[in-house]
Amino acid sequence: MESCNDKVRAALSATFDKVYLNTESMSEENNRVECCTHGNRYPAYVCHHLNLQKPVGFYEPFASDPSVVYSNDELSAWCDACDEVLMRIGKWNEESESFAKIKLVCDACFFDMKELNLGYQAG
Ligand SMILES: [Zn+2]
Ligand SMILES: [Zn+2]
Repeated sequence: MESCNDKVRAALSATFDKVYLNTESMSEENNRVECCTHGNRYPAYVCHHLNLQKPVGFYEPFASDPSVVYSNDELSAWCDACDEVLMRIGKWNEESESFAKIKLVCDACFFDMKELNLGYQAG
């Protein structure tokens, strides 16, 4: 049975091609993710430790705003453990990325995780 996760995985590998090829010409229509919970959304990237059940820490490269639409892959975040590795190594490289195992989520899930971890009230 094809699960929603298969679709997410396919989208993730396509996005990773884009990230590693460093192309900026991807059209906006392709830049979408099919979320099991939220439907067709913009993508966000989080380490595989982040989840919607329990807080694990939440770090992001800039302070994202849930009322803003981020349509260019700007959203990313990682947990306490990943931040420790990142601080030790000093940057994202093969080692820190293989520890984080960045996964693709939708922007709505991203802000749900942010809320769970930082406890801010969205609305
Ligand atoms: Zn992590
Ligand atoms: Zn979602």
